Amino acid sequence: MSVIAATELGLLQDLSARIGGDQLLVQAATGNTSLKQNGQMWIKASGTWLAHAVEDAIFIPIDLDDTRRQIARGIDPAGQSFTVGRKQLGTSVETAMHAVLHWRVVVHVHSVNTIAWAVREDGPEQLEKLLAGIAWQWIPYTSSGLPLARSIEASVAARPETRVLILANHGLVVCGDTCEETEALLREVECRVRIAPRRSVEPDWALLARLADSGVWRVPPSIPVHAMATDPVNRRIVTEGILYPCQAIFLSTQARIYSASVTTAELALVDEPFVLIEGIGTLARRRRNPTESATLAGLALVLQRIPQSAPLRYLREDQVRDLLCADVYHYRERVEDNGAEHLALHPPVAAGDVPTHHG
Ligand SMILES: [Zn+2]
Repeated sequence: MSVIAATELGLLQDLSARIGGDQLLVQAATGNTSLKQNGQMWIKASGTWLAHAVEDAIFIPIDLDDTRRQIARGIDPAGQSFTVGRKQLGTSVETAMHAVLHWRVVVHVHSVNTIAWAVREDGPEQLEKLLAGIAWQWIPYTSSGLPLARSIEASVAARPETRVLILANHGLVVCGDTCEETEALLREVECRVRIAPRRSVEPDWALLARLADSGVWRVPPSIPVHAMATDPVNRRIVTEGILYPCQAIFLSTQARIYSASVTTAELALVDEPFVLIEGIGTLARRRRNPTESATLAGLALVLQRIPQSAPLRYLREDQVRDLLCADVYHYRERVEDNGAEHLALHPPVAAGDVPTHHG
């Protein structure tokens, strides 16, 4: 690898670590970045954390022409295995999406502010005003992998100058020729789509602590997570359906509300990653799983940014079913393994805390 090429990959690592450490952009192993150079595409491996981009080997070099040929023949380039250092890494489900984009640098994030717009029926009209002057497109929800890549390829072919994609019910893609200009555009988009979060009331800490006493549950430290149970708007939205894939994959397909009179014994029988207790707050399962914690914290931040009157588009039942196929469970296991490794390398300040610096 030439010195210049090494430097560019270094810039991608720095950029990836910066965005991976921002809870408003990336939660746990979500999001991915790539760089095309010298006929190769360096892309973040499945299940790895962008936040670890500097200290760990998280990028895989794949042949760009081969990958594009596979996509043209209808073969998904996801799931290929590579040995990097002493680690076995696999290409992610979003590899095809990165490969079909002609830009050298592609950044895909699960931006909380973008998602709060991307789950709205009126998202395209609202964003038209907010993103005026930026070459952007709205991509209707399609499952990740080849279907999403095909949809993006067709949209971008019609308008090759497009540098920003809003993926409905999913997230944000920003492209550019260099890491520097791509990050500048990402910051600009984030600034334009920013939404002031709805203020949340304090949960009933004392009652939550009593209900968590059984050892099954813990009390999350984040106030927005409790607002899912204390704020009537957040509570209604979270119980009416699934807004985006990570919510279904890492949390629950049906959030339930328990009344304030629920007992510790009743809660001990609940087999869910979290429970919402109406007007009181939220309890999260005690097992230390940073991916669930980060996904829950991200969902809470999205909910705080959706106004009461916003017309929402939830994922359809068949779309949720597709998400929960065997492949996804395999992905989930891999992500959770990496989460365990992440915990070993970066133990939280207090056991079970939401990992704030890695989102
Ligand atoms: Zn994604």
